[in-house]
Amino acid sequence: MKQKRAQELRDAWGDAPCEHPQLAKLYDLGAHTGSYACVACGHVFSFREKAELVATRRG
Ligand SMILES: [Zn+2]
Repeated sequence: MKQKRAQELRDAWGDAPCEHPQLAKLYDLGAHTGSYACVACGHVFSFREKAELVATRRG
C-alpha cells in the first residue's frame, strides 16, 4: 500500500476502534518503507509493532 493510500484510509476511518484485521506492506515511491499499514483503518505499524501485533494474536 502506498503512503498516500494509508493517509486516505486514516482520514476516512477517523477515531473509530480497529482490530487491524490485515496489514499490508507500506511503500513510498515504489520502495518498501519497512513499515506496514492496516488495510482497514490505515494505521501505520513499524516492523516491530507488526511483529508484536501478530504475537499477541497467537497468544
Ligand atoms: Zn486497523
